Amino acid sequence: MAKLAIIGGGIIGLACAYYWRKQNHEVVLIDKGNPGEGPSRCNMGWVSPTLSGPLPGPGMIRTSMKWLFKKDSPLYIKPRAVPFLAPWLIQFMRYCNEQKYQLACDAGFDISKDMFQLFDELVDDGVEFEMHRKGLLVLGSDESDLQHKFDDLKQVERIGLPRPEFVTGAELLKMEPHLNANLAGALFLPKERHVRPESMVDGLIDWLQVNGVEMKTNDAVTDIVHNHARVERVRCNSGWVEADMFLFAAGAWSSPLMKKLNYSLPIIAGKGYSITYQSPNVEFNHPIYFAKDKTAITPFDGALRIGGTMELSGINDELMLDRVNGIKSSVAKLLSKEIVGSGEMILSGMRPMTPDSLPVLGGLPNFNNVFVAAGHGGNGLLMSLSTGRILSDLMSGRDPGLDVTPFSPLRFK
Ligand SMILES: Cc1cc2nc3c(=O)[nH]c(=O)nc-3n(C[C@H](O)[C@H](O)[C@H](O)COP(=O)(O)OP(=O)(O)OC[C@H]3O[C@@H](n4cnc5c(N)ncnc54)[C@H](O)[C@@H]3O)c2cc1C
Repeated sequence: MAKLAIIGGGIIGLACAYYWRKQNHEVVLIDKGNPGEGPSRCNMGWVSPTLSGPLPGPGMIRTSMKWLFKKDSPLYIKPRAVPFLAPWLIQFMRYCNEQKYQLACDAGFDISKDMFQLFDELVDDGVEFEMHRKGLLVLGSDESDLQHKFDDLKQVERIGLPRPEFVTGAELLKMEPHLNANLAGALFLPKERHVRPESMVDGLIDWLQVNGVEMKTNDAVTDIVHNHARVERVRCNSGWVEADMFLFAAGAWSSPLMKKLNYSLPIIAGKGYSITYQSPNVEFNHPIYFAKDKTAITPFDGALRIGGTMELSGINDELMLDRVNGIKSSVAKLLSKEIVGSGEMILSGMRPMTPDSLPVLGGLPNFNNVFVAAGHGGNGLLMSLSTGRILSDLMSGRDPGLDVTPFSPLRFK
């Protein structure tokens, strides 16, 4: 039985703990706060391989230029953060071309291809959480915008999912009566799913506790001790933790931790916001994406969440009200009436962003017992279970059944 210490208890650390424990190995999960908080709890809950495409792509630089320093825009860079973000932004720009976009799409599809099966297996294994199989709607500004999106999203056929279906404005109104009557139409992605992310992290935490995983909460890892190619122990607030292997799954906090091992990992925080209305006055049947403003609506049992946008301002939990209001007014434009709920909860979370939008998965170079699973950007929930499965294969020396080169920790060297 090999003992694994996992540093970071977001959805990625939890999923990795689940798959490692399933093989009867020992796991200790260490988190500086409570596991499953931050982005893993407040995200939009989409399990959507079709929309998992990378952020950098052709035309991205031109589109984002008009947004960059506007506080309520879909993408905002805090001017004060520019100097320390510059190296990452330069790397990001190198991925903004058709060829690299396609490579990242292929890798993203590869990791997503058995996604729904993994979610079903989790349910079969007794992990309880809220999951919906209702499909998803992508709104377009006009017909040519919808056609353009269709041409891009139909690639999903390669992994056996159906191509998007065109929905006229009138059909859209029948599907979602609370949308504005003058919308151009939408694309319907019939197989996509969504989950209530809080219920999934809570379900995993329950399973891990029942199955003997040790959880160290409010216990930040502050130091790492290694002897040549082997990490021997990590220092937490509560003392030292020794293990046979160490997996770093610290999301947006991964870079400073990896620096302690002299490894430069280009992961920055891409802050997003969500607003959850309890017992809302409007009901929706599907999650809805408004690509132009990068905002989204997700219906849950008894609640409605709106959210999105990307703020590059470093790691901080400051709530910028301009950005929250930007999301609210973008969604309000789409609806026939204002959303009111019995309670309104505003949360922010730090997406762990790599320059190519792909996660970093695998063994750390120069070490034989250190692994990384971080940098899932806007797809951490979607890719959580496949990440856990892949890491458990890699750590056991088994073939993970897909080409992991696009996710290699070495690729940014
Ligand atoms: C508004 C919004 C909407 C989103 N919507 C979706 C969606 O619909 N679908 C989807 O797939 N993804 C979505 N995402 C992205 C998704 O939420 C993230 O990719 C995912 O949560 C990242 O998980 P993680 O475990 O890597 O990081 P985190 O959840 O951030 O977990 C990292 C953990 O590491 C811990 N940690 C950090 N440093 C230390 C340390 N030194 N010692 C110990 N512990 C440490 C932290 O406390 C934290 O708990 C969304 C994100 C946002 C913000």
